[in-house]
Amino acid sequence: MSKIDSHLLLNDNQKTLLQSVNIITVEWKSEQQSEAREFLKSNELLPEQILNGNTKWRTRNKNDRKNIIKYLYQCTCGSNVSAHKDTKGTGKSQVQFNFVECLAHVEITVEKKSGFFSKAKGYFEHNEECKKALRIAPSILNIHPSVKQMALDLLTLNASSIQILNDNQKFVEQKCQSQVIIDNYRLLLKPSDISNLTREFRKVQLKINTRILVEYSLENIFGKSDNDDKIDKFSLLKEACFHYQAKTKDSRLEVGLSTKEQREFAWNYGHQNILLLDGTFGICNRKILLFIILVLDKKSQGIPIAYFIFTPPSGKCVQSGYNYEILQKFLSKFKEALGTKNDVSFTPKVFNYYYLILF
Ligand SMILES: [Zn+2]
Repeated sequence: MSKIDSHLLLNDNQKTLLQSVNIITVEWKSEQQSEAREFLKSNELLPEQILNGNTKWRTRNKNDRKNIIKYLYQCTCGSNVSAHKDTKGTGKSQVQFNFVECLAHVEITVEKKSGFFSKAKGYFEHNEECKKALRIAPSILNIHPSVKQMALDLLTLNASSIQILNDNQKFVEQKCQSQVIIDNYRLLLKPSDISNLTREFRKVQLKINTRILVEYSLENIFGKSDNDDKIDKFSLLKEACFHYQAKTKDSRLEVGLSTKEQREFAWNYGHQNILLLDGTFGICNRKILLFIILVLDKKSQGIPIAYFIFTPPSGKCVQSGYNYEILQKFLSKFKEALGTKNDVSFTPKVFNYYYLILF
């Protein structure tokens, strides 16, 4: 009995049927790449064929290993999606073909460095109903790669969804003569595209999975347990974090951040000098308070040197969620993080009137 990949969306009947079918494995060496492409092409499995959205193959998993990537594809006519209807973010049905229990699926192994296809393993035969299945919804066109890149560039600059949509609209009007489809790609972005791109951006660029609870992400980044993967992924954030306390039933969430560069600014412009503290409440759709410590440079321009992020104590509203104790706690933690220079500890001269005594 062969093991069935758990990423395939199958019903019980399909699982039983798959036990008795012949799974085929084809392997290619580097000099057999044209054969590999020919084989994949005849099964509509070349990456460019899958990407244009006209095939029935749907990506079920991407297993990124050290030297290889394994892509798992499944025929959409055999994808038992109703079993996964609770998946977050899938409000609208994406089904384009009727479900007819087709068993076709394949895992393709690609060498990372060379991009060579080294193996295809699976069941390539579509059942009769699948071959006859009619499209019940138009194919979903992919976003044009350039349009996607433009949106991702704007996300890097912290642009809002509205700014990205406006920019895209202008681009389509002015540079594409209002044409919205080119070469089977669409050019006009929808608000849902921005949500998807933002999620992808966070996952790829910031290594944060927004499909899991925020609490888990925070614990994952700032929590005590360290593994090599985490040190590598979040090294910058971890290095900047001088205080972290997870939110529990009895304690509030507290995060103190200051990068190495900011700590140097603190010493250069804040030691024996003026520090300013600015507070703002409800900075996102959560009840979060943010306090920023600023120093003034030679041109009297404010430079943020530390951020205190915390939630109000339970039962309190955001505006009254801070007091002397919490700010003092953050400030002393920050002072600890600044350490000493020439045996002298960090000491501001004036700290915007009354908070000076907190240091
Ligand atoms: Zn099929």
